[in-house]
Amino acid sequence: MPDVLIVGAGPVGTLLAAELARHGVEAALWDRRTAAGGGTRAIGLHAPVLAALEAGGATERILERAVKVRRGEARGGGTLLGVVRFDRLQQRHPYVATLPQPETEAALAVGAPAPVRGMAVSGIQVDGERLRVRATHDDSTLETTAPLVVVAGGAGARGLVFRPGMPRGGEYPDRYLMSDATVPPRDDAAVAVVHLDERGVLESFPLPDGRRRFVAWDTGGAAGVDDDDAARLARLRAALAARGEHEGAAAITAAASFRVRRVVAPHLRRGRLFAIGDTAHEVSPIGGQGMNLGLLDAAGLAPLLARWVREGAAPEPELAAWERDRVRSAGRAALLASANTGLGRPVGAAAHAVRSRAMRLALAAGGTLFARAYAMGFDAAG
Ligand SMILES: Cc1cc2nc3c(=O)[nH]c(=O)nc-3n(C[C@H](O)[C@H](O)[C@H](O)COP(=O)(O)OP(=O)(O)OC[C@H]3O[C@@H](n4cnc5c(N)ncnc54)[C@H](O)[C@@H]3O)c2cc1C
Repeated sequence: MPDVLIVGAGPVGTLLAAELARHGVEAALWDRRTAAGGGTRAIGLHAPVLAALEAGGATERILERAVKVRRGEARGGGTLLGVVRFDRLQQRHPYVATLPQPETEAALAVGAPAPVRGMAVSGIQVDGERLRVRATHDDSTLETTAPLVVVAGGAGARGLVFRPGMPRGGEYPDRYLMSDATVPPRDDAAVAVVHLDERGVLESFPLPDGRRRFVAWDTGGAAGVDDDDAARLARLRAALAARGEHEGAAAITAAASFRVRRVVAPHLRRGRLFAIGDTAHEVSPIGGQGMNLGLLDAAGLAPLLARWVREGAAPEPELAAWERDRVRSAGRAALLASANTGLGRPVGAAAHAVRSRAMRLALAAGGTLFARAYAMGFDAAG
């Protein structure tokens, strides 16, 4: 039997498994999906995460392929509102590294045990000094026990750790359209661009291989329209063209729609049971920190669980400090994501003029505070 059972082989569970293996702990990784995948969501890795992943070698693997984004620009109505200089961060990695999520997951998986797939965990119960875990696999139910269980199963696995409806959260009214596409070479290929005008936000972020990620606040969401693929693609094309992103408009071939939620659990641990990643906190992707939060959860937890296994006793003060730090970090990310979501909404002409002036002021002299906030510069030293 493994010392640690990890539920969920997304980026967060995978990193925890790899880090535990590096610390000599036997862990099992179970995932309900029968194959890896699930499309690309997260693309940005921030300085504290890149620093935390160095010892296991994942940072080197990620940076072999990632674009190092050293500069961000806010543009409005065809003019530059301000610049965010990630290259001025006092960090070992003064940039945001962008890479599609499946490639990040592959970089994290090196050294981790292979996940046992098709294993859907349906219940976890305390049984003395162990936890009893129930799962279904190929239509049959099985049970096992483990001394320590970590749930990294994303939002859908919250019920394994928390009471129904807990932790409380909320859904924003906003909806966004998203597409990744290969675009012709451009002078600002390594610059993260945020277009901010009366129609709301449109983000245009670099990816490897001459690709870009486009995300636009969706008018269809405001109107409550539940529409089809062609209508979504047409709306994203129109949003891109309206901001002068004509090559992006021509390049995209599909547009996905997503909504955003906010959930921050006040506790990540009950005895021998832990919740990390999206299971414990979900923040708006407009801010790009959700996966980063989970990776920091896992990187910080692994050495503490290893100590617990090695010494046969929980390192209580360190676990309490880890939990406090991670809850605080998630709260900060949720606040920033809320601010971004509000800032990216459509406004009237007068309000837009005020917003643009405020942006110019806030981003004067390289937007140091913005760069720190966006790149998780308030988290563990990078
Ligand atoms: C459009 C979009 C863009 C985003 N962009 C960014 C970004 O730029 N930067 C960023 O940091 N974050 C971003 N995020 C957030 C990021 O994708 C998530 O925070 C991240 O994927 C969470 O990782 P996780 O491992 O906690 O959960 P998940 O990725 O959800 O993985 C959970 C795994 O657990 C498995 N599982 C679930 N339930 C069970 C069960 N009962 N039994 C067994 N297995 C189970 C699932 O099959 C899955 O494989 C974005 C999200 C979206 C939607």
